[in-house]
This record gives sequence, C-alpha cells and structure tokens, in this order.
Amino acid sequence: MTLLPDSLASRLALWQAGTFVLFFSIGLPVFYHLIGVVAQNRMDQDLIEDIEEFHDLWRSEGIQRVRREIQREIGSDDPSDLYLRLLTSSGEVLYATDMSHWKNIAPNRHAIDRVIAGDDPQLETLTRASDGDQFRVVYGIIAPDQLLEIAETLEPQKDFMELLLHLFVGIYLVVVPFGALVGWWLARRALRSVEEVSLTAEAIADGNLNRHVTVRPNGSEITRLVTTFNAMIDRVQTLITAMREMTDNIAHDMRGPLARIRANAELALVSASSVDEFRESAADTLEECERLLQMINTTLDVAETEAGAGRQPRDRVDPARLASEACELFEPVAEDRRVTLTCKVQDCGELTGNRQQLQRMLANLVDNGLKFTDQGGAVTVAVERNADRVSIRVHDTGIGIAKPDRERIFERFVRCDPSRSRTGFGLGLSFCRAVARAHGGDITVASEPGKGSLFTVTLPLAAQRSAVPEGEHLLAYSTPVG
Ligand code: ADP
Repeated sequence: MTLLPDSLASRLALWQAGTFVLFFSIGLPVFYHLIGVVAQNRMDQDLIEDIEEFHDLWRSEGIQRVRREIQREIGSDDPSDLYLRLLTSSGEVLYATDMSHWKNIAPNRHAIDRVIAGDDPQLETLTRASDGDQFRVVYGIIAPDQLLEIAETLEPQKDFMELLLHLFVGIYLVVVPFGALVGWWLARRALRSVEEVSLTAEAIADGNLNRHVTVRPNGSEITRLVTTFNAMIDRVQTLITAMREMTDNIAHDMRGPLARIRANAELALVSASSVDEFRESAADTLEECERLLQMINTTLDVAETEAGAGRQPRDRVDPARLASEACELFEPVAEDRRVTLTCKVQDCGELTGNRQQLQRMLANLVDNGLKFTDQGGAVTVAVERNADRVSIRVHDTGIGIAKPDRERIFERFVRCDPSRSRTGFGLGLSFCRAVARAHGGDITVASEPGKGSLFTVTLPLAAQRSAVPEGEHLLAYSTPVG
C-alpha cells in the first residue's frame, strides 16, 4: 500500500514540492552561510590591506604622515563605527582616535605577541559591552616597534545578513507552496490530454470509433502521444472498414457458387431421370466446389506469403527467362482472345527467390492483361535491369483502371467490376503484392481508363553468379491464381 495519492498530477506536484523543500532546506542555509563567509573574508582582506597601506605610507613619508592619514580616515566616518590605535610592541598606546565609544578596551596582548612573532596581521572579533555591537579588529606592524590596531563595526554586515535571512525565509514560505501549486497546475494541464486519451480509449473499447482527442500544444511528448493515438484510431477505422468490405466481398463471392451448387442438387433431385443427367449435375457441383476451394486456397496462399516469406524455398531465378516462359505459356490464350502478346526481355542476371511464387505472380499479371484487354489490343511483357534491381513490366491496352480503384486493387477480394461479370476472386493482385514484398521488392500500377494499364514489379537482383540451366521449369509453370 502506498501513501501517495492516486492521480499522477498530484503525485508529480507532491514530488515537486518535496524536491523544492529539500532543495531550499539545504540550499538556502548553505548559500546563507557562504555569503556570510565571503563578506567576512572581504572585510578581513580590506583591514589587512589598510595595514599594508599604512606600512607603505610610513616607509615613504614617516610616522607624522601616518598620524595625519589616521585622522583623515576617522574624519570621514562615524566615530562610533571605527577606531585606530598606534601601539608599541609591548602594547602601550602611542596614539588613538576618539575612543569615547570604546571605554576599557585594552589592546589584545596575545594578538600583539603573535603579530610580533610571525609578522602576519592578526584578526579578532570584539563585542562592545555598552550596546552589544560587534567589531572586527586587526593588529599589524607598520613600522619597527610600532603596531597599528584598526577596529571596524560589523553592524552593516549583520544588517545585510539579517535582511538576507528574511529574504530566504520569505522565499521558503512563498516560493515552495507557490511552486508546488504551479507544478500541480502544470502537471494537471499537461496530463489533461492523457486523461482524454484514456477516456477516448474507453469509448473505443465500448465500440465508439468516431472519437478523436483534441491536439493541444502542451509539450511535444503529449502532442505526439495524442497525434499517434488519433492516427491509430484512423488506422483501426480503416482496417475495420476494409475488413467489413472484405467479409462482404467473400460472402458475395461465395454466395454465387453455393447457390449454383444448391440449384444443381435441387434440379438433379427434382428432374434428373438418367445416370447421365446425375453425372452432369455431379460434374457441375464438382466444378463449383473446385472454384470455392481455389478461392480458399489462394486466400491461404496470400496469408502464408505475407506471413512467412523467409520460410519459402529460395532458388536462383532468371527473371528474363521467367518472362519468356510466361509469354510462351499464354501465347495460345492470347491468340484465342485475338490479343497480341509481346515479350521484350534483356539479360539482367538472377535474383534469389521462390520460383513457383514468382511464376504465379507473373502469370497473374499476364492473365489479367489478357482478361481485361479486348480483341485487337496488345499485352507486352518487358524485363529490364536498373542498377541492382530488375523491373518486370506488364503493359496492356485494355480497359484501364479508374483512380479510386487503383488505390485498392492490391487489397484482398477487391474487384473493380461491380457487376463481377468477369471471372476472378480479386485475390490475384494481392498475391502479386505479397510475393513482390516477400522478395524485397514491390508492385505499382499506372493506368488510364480506356487506354490501358501498366503493372511494374521491381525486385532486387542477387549478386552475380554463373547461370544455372532452368529449361526444365517450363513444363511446371504455375497457373494464375485469383
Ligand atoms: P481478379 O482475379 O478479379 O482479376 P485481381 O486481384 O487480379 O483479381 O484484380 C483485381 C481487380 O483489378 C480486377 O477485378 C480488375 O477489376 C482490376 N484489374 C486487374 N488487372 C487489370 C488490368 N490489367 N486492367 C484492368 N483492370 C485490372
């Protein structure tokens, strides 16, 4: 169990307040102490410098000049703040400024002895008995057998330190709670979007996909979270729409064959009278079942290709030869449809891939070209090398594809012909794309309705190696899917 509050904003504010308290509790006293030490050092330094200056003055202009300078110095200050005394090494006072504010303050013998022993000026702090004011006193030699004693009030420094103490206490009492409050407010503001994301996620979990989180400019991390979250909702929405469409398409495509199977069976039951008629009905049913099975198998093939590209067997494949074989295979179909099928290939080297899948991909593209081109048209298969890639192009002069359809044709079960009068399940191109991507390439389409289409598959070539005879694969050339 934790004593911290539940909400993140309150926790952040608490942490911040804790950090503030810790920082100021340690930082301010340390800072205060350091300032005190620096001020004290500064004052000591000034006093020692004064001794040195009087020493220099004695050396250059004699003791009378020193006395005059002492008088001049005392004249510009309040006599209660400062005094100077000239002493002998035995502590006897030779000369002193107005001492009326310092009754009964005898020179410190101990300090004088230490000065005489070591030559260094000696410092001490005195408290005036009459008012409790503190003074800093320095003793230093300025001439042979003559010491100067300078005492200066510490009151301005004390006042300054007192003011600083008030200021620091004020900072502590005002800044800490205020800072914590501001921190809490900022944390709440920043986390408002996160809260909104949570609420939207809850709404989505309840099935409401039309919600978005408002993007507010409150820090790039949160803005990124919100933008990514919104993009994710859009993506989920698109996927769900695509899935719905796909399910509709599957239902639509299965309904036809199933209805025909049922009609065949009914017809056979009601009206078939001879074995031949039953045979014919069974053959029709078989054909429809074959179509359904083919559709299901192709769907599985696409999924398998998309999911497990690396697990497929890999061969060295010559794309030029692949294209020539496809043209050879489809020549009779082209003749039948009175479409000119041309093959323009150049030697491009080899690529590493699954021969069977690549054959099926090319067969699909050529089959589509012939299927969607009216008599008198032309289909051209071209293979050409571009640096370390090979481009396989299948161009036709057929019906073309409208722009909105062009973006969807590589999705499963998408067919542009709404009447679905032509054969096919709308799976061929999704298989082509799965194969191209599984081989590290991609497929694109350029098309103009009424003028024709150009499908381009780009695949990476393998490193050069001596060619392997492939003639035996022609007989086993795969037939199109979809
Ligand atoms: P299908 O088995 O229906 O041909 P595909 O995935 O191969 O399935 O093609 C999807 C849709 O794309 C086709 O139904 C057709 O409308 C359109 N399409 C494919 N290739 C061509 C082409 N060469 N010319 C015109 N339309 C095409």
